[in-house]
Amino acid sequence: MKIGIIGCAGRMGRTLIQQVLDTEGAELAAGTVRSDEDALGKDLGELVGREALGIKAGDDAEALFKICDAAIDFTVPENSLANARLAAKHGKVLVCGTTGFTDAQRDELKEIAKGATIIWAANMSVGVNLLQALVKKVASVLDEDYDIEVVEMHHRHKVDSPSGTALMLGEAAAEGRAKPLNEVACKARDGIIGARPKGEIGFATLRGGDVVGDHTVMFAADGERIELTHKASNRSVFAKGAVRAALWSKGQKKGLFNMHDVLATSHW
Ligand code: NAD
Repeated sequence: MKIGIIGCAGRMGRTLIQQVLDTEGAELAAGTVRSDEDALGKDLGELVGREALGIKAGDDAEALFKICDAAIDFTVPENSLANARLAAKHGKVLVCGTTGFTDAQRDELKEIAKGATIIWAANMSVGVNLLQALVKKVASVLDEDYDIEVVEMHHRHKVDSPSGTALMLGEAAAEGRAKPLNEVACKARDGIIGARPKGEIGFATLRGGDVVGDHTVMFAADGERIELTHKASNRSVFAKGAVRAALWSKGQKKGLFNMHDVLATSHW
């Protein structure tokens, strides 16, 4: 399968180049960067400290879609939406790991996916998707005497908060309680805000250093507390999931899929 990496000079972009090169059945065919980036015109192999591959980083996503079977995009929401439209236009696959979509942008992605095979997940690691399934299960068993809090920490460069993964875990908890997350979520606390409302799902965000991604979901009651934790220590876990999703997409129908479809954990 010919794979192109959009945003290939980013932290995830570079990890994705390595992962595609190291995955049997995947062929690195192209990569793009923003037109104002130093990486424009650089060889994709040299960009990640490997031998030159003879493939230069371009800035034309449409040209990338023309020569690839699937594009992998970990960039920014506006750009990912534009790429979803290109995937639909050219009948190609988009694997998207970008986070920070607004509700309206997520709706737009769903709409575009009626005309393209799109796999989107706020976290593409196998471990986090397993954690998501566990959180839903635990939340469905425990009642509202158990306060749910989602705590996350990421490196100092991360721009969105709470992380897409924290929101995904919050959604799993809300789903377990059969409540829409936006009705029970508290994404920030400051000042004299009063006692914690029963049934609230709280989020706390830490930023610092080079933390790749730590997430804990707590179920805190009087007398006991359950904590489910995932810690990513290497970005390759996300890239592995993304390349696995691209290979899985072969022969799939149009529509919006997630990692549970790829890993076949959707029935859990
Ligand atoms: P980053 O800032 O290092 O990389 C983003 C790259 O996108 C930059 O190099 C930027 O130049 C590029 N870009 C932006 N607009 C572009 C355009 N129009 N054309 C080409 N390139 C463009 O960030 P990162 O840490 O690599 O994370 C990127 C995104 O992936 C974030 O939304 C992050 O939250 C998300 N992420 C998701 C997962 C997951 O498993 N789903 C894992 C890690 C990060």
